[in-house]
Amino acid sequence: AKKAAQSRAGASYNIALQDAEMGKVVTGFPPEPSGYLHIGHAKAALLNDYFAHDLYKGTLLFRFDDTNSTKEKQEFQDSITEDLDVLGIKPDKTSYTSDHFHTLYEYCARMIKEGNAYADDTDQKTMRDERMTGKASVRRNRTVEENMAIFEGMIAGTQLQNCIRAKISVDNPNKAMRDPVIYRCNHTPHHRTGTLWKAYPTYDFACPLVDSLEGVTHALRTTEFADRNPQYQWFLECFNLRKVHIWDFARLNFKRTFLSKRKLTKLVDASRVWGWDDPRMPTIRGVLRRGMTISALRDFILKQGPSRNITLMDWTIFWNINKKEIDPIAPRHTAVDQKETVRATIIKQGPEKAYTEERPRHNKNPGLGTKKVAYSSHLILDQEDAKLFEQDEEITLMAWGNAIVPKINRSSLDFRSPVVDIELELHLEGDVKKTEKKITWLSTEGQSLIPVELVDFDYLLTKDKLEEDDNWEDFLTKQTEFRSAAFCDANLAACKTGDIIQLERKGYFRVDAPYKDGKAAVLFNIPTGKTR
Ligand code: ATP
Ligand code: MG
Ligand code: MG
Repeated sequence: AKKAAQSRAGASYNIALQDAEMGKVVTGFPPEPSGYLHIGHAKAALLNDYFAHDLYKGTLLFRFDDTNSTKEKQEFQDSITEDLDVLGIKPDKTSYTSDHFHTLYEYCARMIKEGNAYADDTDQKTMRDERMTGKASVRRNRTVEENMAIFEGMIAGTQLQNCIRAKISVDNPNKAMRDPVIYRCNHTPHHRTGTLWKAYPTYDFACPLVDSLEGVTHALRTTEFADRNPQYQWFLECFNLRKVHIWDFARLNFKRTFLSKRKLTKLVDASRVWGWDDPRMPTIRGVLRRGMTISALRDFILKQGPSRNITLMDWTIFWNINKKEIDPIAPRHTAVDQKETVRATIIKQGPEKAYTEERPRHNKNPGLGTKKVAYSSHLILDQEDAKLFEQDEEITLMAWGNAIVPKINRSSLDFRSPVVDIELELHLEGDVKKTEKKITWLSTEGQSLIPVELVDFDYLLTKDKLEEDDNWEDFLTKQTEFRSAAFCDANLAACKTGDIIQLERKGYFRVDAPYKDGKAAVLFNIPTGKTR
């Protein structure tokens, strides 16, 4: 969290909030504790933070919008608090919509008494059809007494069939204005208020009232809520409450994944992923576990800015920003695939005995210090490299020098068959600029090689953008996890969980589990924006 605060992106946009006064702007980020935060939420949270703190030196409120006990949990609530902290966002105040349940109950009762709301037990489908066709509910003209009695029954838990609807309009061209539901029954215990309430305000009803009551001056909402803006203002007018400015911004969408807690919950529940922090998940935890840095995540999101143009983001841009961040600071290591490893013996000019040398961890960043590199006449190489060698070719052993390949033993006479072992003649006088093949190698003597498991992942979805009528479950990628084994230089033994390294010629990796008690370290491949 400290690190994120230091590397604040210092974003600035040519955008001002309406009627904003320096020091007096209050924004609010209202997540529902119904899942872990995804990178779309990070955008909403960072924009609220930007306007409140960076631009207007005002106040950032953070409110758990916990009005649906069926979907919400303490675990989600705790993770949201932690993830905001990880992003370096420091709200000035934290609250809960559930703190206001009694007040909201009173506001609803008042609406009923003033003839502005009614109880309705029309079944869901009929209600939806009536809303679509602009038809009044048969319950629309119940008496205040009848409505109040039903509402009290809903609160007491004796009444289950009804909901309460605001009496706004039957046929307003904006369907969000057609008598929206403001209270509904739910007998699932609430993670904060337990069984105290048997009916809860809806988001549509609670959000404007609580925003206004808590002092929000500017509510930032994603554009898909724009149809509901008049409704938001209607509730405030209904109670003569302080007006709140609404600022709409574009939601963040990414190719080949979904930013929806509902769908992500299904993946977790069906064990399609290991959990909310799975490196394939577009959650804040997921992308950090995959190897995104906090500052690159902030930079990326803040670069999107508060525009209203909805775009479908490509992951390559996301990971490319990260690559620029990690490349100068990722220590370099060497790994050789365990599959079909090729043994190389230096038969001429090689060292008689193994020795080690201190070499820079990063050629361009001396600040990273040095590592031990072991040299001997017994090496292992990748099959991928060795199978391309030609007899008597001169190659370069990276960070050592040139060598000639006088002998190549293959598993059969066929020149395409795998190489089993080769012989080398070290030729350190050779010009490394003249060779075509610069290859990775590890000495099997003078160090203990560290076994590592390399894990790569594919996107969750097979299609860039799901259409409205696509059944998303049909587009889940079948295999999204790919594992391979490798040996790594001895320096890897000191790497800890969370370290980001580069394996020369193999890419960037994040250590998910360190080497311990002889068990292979687990390294996640970090996309660079080139492939995925
Ligand atoms: P989800 O569908 O994933 O559950 P939500 O909007 O229902 O999203 P909330 O917890 O209510 O989830 O969201 C908190 C805030 O985050 C809201 O203001 C919402 O507009 C914003 N938000 C959610 N998804 C995105 C997104 N993809 N891009 C930008 N902002 C988002
Ligand atoms: Mg929501
Ligand atoms: Mg949602």
